[in-house]
Amino acid sequence: MTQIRSKRSVPSTDVTEEFVPSADQLVAHNERFSGSFEDGDLAVAPAMKLAVVACMDSRMDIFKILGLENGEAHILRNAGGVITDDVIRSLCLSQRFLGTQEIVLLHHTDCGLQKVSEDEFKADLEAELGVKPRWSLEPFTDPYGDTRQSMQRLIVTPFVDASYLRGFVYDVTDGRLREVSQAE
Ligand SMILES: [Zn+2]
Repeated sequence: MTQIRSKRSVPSTDVTEEFVPSADQLVAHNERFSGSFEDGDLAVAPAMKLAVVACMDSRMDIFKILGLENGEAHILRNAGGVITDDVIRSLCLSQRFLGTQEIVLLHHTDCGLQKVSEDEFKADLEAELGVKPRWSLEPFTDPYGDTRQSMQRLIVTPFVDASYLRGFVYDVTDGRLREVSQAE
């Protein structure tokens, strides 16, 4: 067994097994997928006029959780489902160019961002790489409060219409959504 030491900063676990990339397996899956492909006529504008902003967590299958089909919604994902400038950029395009009107935020319990400290993370990066990132990591302790903050960012930005905005926390232990009120 080869010990591979990551050159990159802040590995969350010790790497003890040799890593085998998956891209070849993915391409093989795609061969089978494209063999029975039937979605070639879908419109570019989402049929439900819906955009979902969600965390990138690997336990969240957004289509399954919400019962969505291909072509029905824009799905925007990043670490935490944070409303960054880039998410606002995508939502602005989604609404103005592709006709979406409703926004659903999907945060969740047991998020990776609840386990890191912004200061330590950045200090580690700077110690190892000599530079600190300009972006903010945006860790949080309470997923409900974090969802509320994201809703607030969408309410105040001039670039996004938040008339139809709702926020939810997905519980990774039971698969349920719990709604977050805008004010508390
Ligand atoms: Zn997460």
